Amino acid sequence: MKLLEKGWIDLRARFRRLRGASRPSRLLLRLDDLDAPGPLPATDLNVEAWQTQLVELYTWAGVLPTVLVGRVGNPLVSSLIRFCHRLEAPTTLRTAGSGLSLRAAEGLVDDGLDSLWIRMAGAASHEQLCEEPLAVTHDAVRAILRARADRKVPLKVGIEAVFRLESARELPGIFREAKELGVDRVRVLPPWVGPAWDSRQSVMVDLLALERPPFHITPPTVLAGLREMEDGQPGSPRHGGRCPVGGQLEVMTDRSVRSCPFHPGAVAASSSFDQLSQQLAAHHDRIRRCDRVCHHPDLMP
Ligand code: SF4
Repeated sequence: MKLLEKGWIDLRARFRRLRGASRPSRLLLRLDDLDAPGPLPATDLNVEAWQTQLVELYTWAGVLPTVLVGRVGNPLVSSLIRFCHRLEAPTTLRTAGSGLSLRAAEGLVDDGLDSLWIRMAGAASHEQLCEEPLAVTHDAVRAILRARADRKVPLKVGIEAVFRLESARELPGIFREAKELGVDRVRVLPPWVGPAWDSRQSVMVDLLALERPPFHITPPTVLAGLREMEDGQPGSPRHGGRCPVGGQLEVMTDRSVRSCPFHPGAVAASSSFDQLSQQLAAHHDRIRRCDRVCHHPDLMP
């Protein structure tokens, strides 16, 4: 905290910008396997270790918008939101409805959370999470909306629903329910890796396009990309430009840092963040040459 009080973190960040060091625009903290592609490494980070890691990263890159991905029951979630908020980093949590009681919702609001995405039950990317009853999500949404109203804070609440061919027909109904519940916005969560689509997928995507902004905020490029996903491949084919995911640093539970989960090259984070750009150079070179376009929000900084 003393570093921040002296403004030292900001000065260090400005100095690095002057020297032209590449600077990420967003941090993503993957705290558990909410919907990660593949299993997460075992954790050796307690709250204090995460906090140290964050101060080191913010010192190096400046205080960045920070997305936390994890379940409400994970004790790291609340502690790190509070910590990031105290460092004045805008925080977003992507989570599932399970465990989001009124008390837990009040805790998140009091921790200083700025934005919350609740993944809609019944549309998860992992089979075991599909078991969560729809009522759990409804209860979670009501709890966070009540906590927000009681505390009179501008927390943004959204629902995200995984696009799967088997359940895509339900998505317009899910959007209607979300509106009735009073959430601020909805978005579609594309699968990490394409399934074997058939001719029905375009019809399903057309259905989704019927609901428009500002309530439905899935970018049109994401809806277009859904039509082109291919079996076993991340995202859809790239028709130009470069993937922006190199502008994000994702911190894993074993202190390793990466930008893209599909290209190798994650490096162990340490206090020598001066060298992090160089250590990630090969990883970022693969990202620059990637011929795919991923649409999952974790990959769109
Ligand atoms: S570099 Fe970007 S488009 Fe390519 S696999 Fe990674 S996230 Fe997807």
